[in-house]
Order: sequence, then C-alpha cells, then structure tokens
Amino acid sequence: MLLRRITKHVKDQNWFAFGLDFFIVVFGVFVGLQVSNWNDARQAREDGGQFLVQLHDDIVLAKDMSSRVLDRRLQRAVNMVDAADVLFGRVQATALTQAQCKAIFASSIFDIPIAALGSFDELVASGRVAIISDASLRTDLLALRQIAITTREAIETYSLMAAPLEQVFPEAIENDAYFDEALGEVQAHIRCNEEAMRSNRAFLNAMSVNIDAQDAFIRDGLGVWKNQIVGVHKKVDAALGITHNEGRAP
Ligand SMILES: [Zn+2]
Repeated sequence: MLLRRITKHVKDQNWFAFGLDFFIVVFGVFVGLQVSNWNDARQAREDGGQFLVQLHDDIVLAKDMSSRVLDRRLQRAVNMVDAADVLFGRVQATALTQAQCKAIFASSIFDIPIAALGSFDELVASGRVAIISDASLRTDLLALRQIAITTREAIETYSLMAAPLEQVFPEAIENDAYFDEALGEVQAHIRCNEEAMRSNRAFLNAMSVNIDAQDAFIRDGLGVWKNQIVGVHKKVDAALGITHNEGRAP
C-alpha cells in the first residue's frame, strides 16, 4: 500500500509527499528494530537471572556431592605424609596412628565426585554463554568447566598409576570390611604392620609413589577445582544476594 503510494508520488513528481512517506518507512523499520532489540535485551536479562538461580542450585549440589569426601581426602593427604615420616624414621614415633594407617591404605584411592554444572553446560552447548552479563563470572565458569574435565582425567590417570598396597603387600596392610550400624555404611578395619613395611623396600617405594601422586592430584587437580568452585559460588551468591551460614558454605 505504502509502496504503491511512494511509486505514485515519484510518477507525480511530488517530492515532498515522497520524502514524507519514505521517512515513515525508514522510521517504522528503525522503531521496529529498536523494539526487537529491547525485547531481546530484556529476554537476555531475564534468562541471565534465571540461569544464575539454576547455576546456584547446581553449585550447591556439586558441593554437597563432594564435600564429605573432599574434606576426608585433604586430611588423609596430611596423614599420609605424617605416616611416611614415621616409617622413614624422621620423627620419634615408631608406630602409626589408626588415621595414618588408614591414610596409607587409601593412598591408591583417587575417585571423588566432580559434578558437572548442568545449567552452564547447557548454555555452552546452545552457544548462549553471552546471557551471563558479568564477564569475570563467565571467564571463571569456563575455567571451572575446563578444570573439572582435567580433574576427572587426572582421577583416571592417577588411579591407573597408583598401587593398591593392601593387595600387593598383604603382609604389610590388612583390610577387614564390616557394616557400621551407626554410620549406616560399610567401613573397614585396617591394620598396619610397621615392621613388615619398613623391611620391604618395594613397599616403601610403592607407598612413596602413591603419596607423591596424591599430593600432585590435590595440588594440581582437586585443590584447584575446589578453589575455583568456591570463587564462582561467592560471585553467584553476591549476584543473587544470597548469604550462607558461616561454616556451611563451601
Ligand atoms: Zn550460595
């Protein structure tokens, strides 16, 4: 309709009417685009806000899945080094504590749940990472995703590398499984024979390799992942105005 009118104005050489209609067309397109842009921006803001809420749920879930095991692993790593000091005669004690004995037994265990953040993975897959308006949070989330992948790979690598000491050296470590009623889970009575350990160079070598691998895994993998997810959690909490009880937040 408008196009027909414009054509008629040209035929009639009515340049004023032509200019007016032309302006109406251009202005109409401009306003249409602006409205569309505003709508897109508003939608992106809404999606971004909704994403942060989902992301927070994913972070809390990832923390809940790993925290119990994570704290135990970090403490175990300390106990392993202390145990090595005892066995190599670098401290006065000659017998291992139960915690140190258990730590040596567990020195070949690396498995820990490194949960994926489903909401962020979905954004990456759909190419919509840009709806996260905070550029530093975006960067931190991408880094966390990469760190999680690397950490899962490290679990596989170190698990293959480490020797299960109680199986290779049963005379040095004994392991009796039982169901703990109070904890509601299977536990193990671990017994260490310090003399058998000290007199077996192969055992000491294998144990040292395991302890070194645990240290590297925590330093370069697990610890990095933990720090990164704690940092991301703080940023998401700040963006959503969430506060956690002291000592409960990861
Ligand atoms: Zn939180």
